[in-house]
Amino acid sequence: MNKTLILVVEDDNSVKNLITTTLKAHDYRYLTAQNGTDAILEASSHNPDIVLLDLGLPDIDGVDVIKKIRTWSNMPIIVISARSEDTDKIDALDAGADDYLTKPFSVEELLARLRVTQRRLNMMQNETSAKASVFTNGKLRIDYAAGCAYLDNEELHLTPIEYKLLCLLSRNVGKVLTHTFITQNIWGSCWDNDIASLRVFMATLRKKLEKDANSPQYIQTHIGVGYRMMKVE
Ligand code: CA
Repeated sequence: MNKTLILVVEDDNSVKNLITTTLKAHDYRYLTAQNGTDAILEASSHNPDIVLLDLGLPDIDGVDVIKKIRTWSNMPIIVISARSEDTDKIDALDAGADDYLTKPFSVEELLARLRVTQRRLNMMQNETSAKASVFTNGKLRIDYAAGCAYLDNEELHLTPIEYKLLCLLSRNVGKVLTHTFITQNIWGSCWDNDIASLRVFMATLRKKLEKDANSPQYIQTHIGVGYRMMKVE
């Protein structure tokens, strides 16, 4: 029995039914809310494990719902947006959402996102791993205290920026990080040339990190949005 409790925030009944039917079929527990006000209320009173949040709500903007929840909780939030709401999706990630689904989405996509988020949740709940000075993911190992990274026990020769990027991604494993978030953390600014530089550094980092550049294992690209480090099994 899957004990994960999901809060589904969606005002469109057909989308809501697709989600809840899928959750029911996969033994998830769930709650629903039709608007932002109820979403905040349900989130605070039931403390769900994951929130699936539609961005286009009838009362409050979905991004404001995220900001509100983030004032007291780090619960994973997956936003659901229409394709026309691309900038909203990025605002949502910058406001603290973990991941996104674009409408229309398939049941498989929904389940895959939930699995990724659950893995992230398991890591977050594991206090020791959150505080550990050594990070491991598949064959990647980062010794934060020593400032070194290893792949398959061989030290990776990274430039300071590549190393900083790798640490930022690893400390947020499973979470989609926007270009703005990354460049602000690495360079303290977010100009167009910072994003261009980011692409260059990401390419060189991946060359060192990924065995097969065509099917990257560790770092996923989200076109027009950002990057995410995947949890490798
Ligand atoms: Ca809607």
